[in-house]
Amino acid sequence: MLIPHDTRIALDTVVDLMNTAPDGGRRDGLRDVAALYAFVRSHDISGVGELGEQDLRAVRDVRKRFAEVFSAPDARTAAELINQLVAAAGTTPQLTDHDGYDWHVHYFAPGASVADHLAADCGMALAFIVVAGEQERLRRCEAPDCGRAFVDLSRNRSRRYCDSRTCGNRLHVAAYRARRKEAAAG
Ligand SMILES: [Zn+2]
Ligand SMILES: [Zn+2]
Repeated sequence: MLIPHDTRIALDTVVDLMNTAPDGGRRDGLRDVAALYAFVRSHDISGVGELGEQDLRAVRDVRKRFAEVFSAPDARTAAELINQLVAAAGTTPQLTDHDGYDWHVHYFAPGASVADHLAADCGMALAFIVVAGEQERLRRCEAPDCGRAFVDLSRNRSRRYCDSRTCGNRLHVAAYRARRKEAAAG
């Protein structure tokens, strides 16, 4: 699957945003406005002005909508969710080559809030995945107690864990111990 560079960046942003969500032992990665500023900076989200509590609430809400797209059982459900998200954000597609990046399309409307910016641009990146018939690549890690979101970009769609170094390894070790136990018992 060929994914344009800017789409890939937007997908990374979706996943990183989703993985700020509190879950079990994990605290909310967007616990305050300062954390939202840090997220915006580290993801190079352009054209963002002053941020407040309202932005924080709105971005958390968008985060929840992305999670719904990821857990959509089929492409039609995902498409409906993405359509709603993008329509509510409003879009103004514009070609741009800002900050030395190659030509790419921005979807967010001029002056959009950071939440609408994320909903429009990341929503369109998710739309691209659905159009490509690859909605099942929007996944959650299968390691116990993890559940982090990721986009499986492997050739054969075989990735099951968010980060093979931590979750993958942990599972290998667990399987190895289980086998040894079985061998010892038998
Ligand atoms: Zn851009
Ligand atoms: Zn994981």
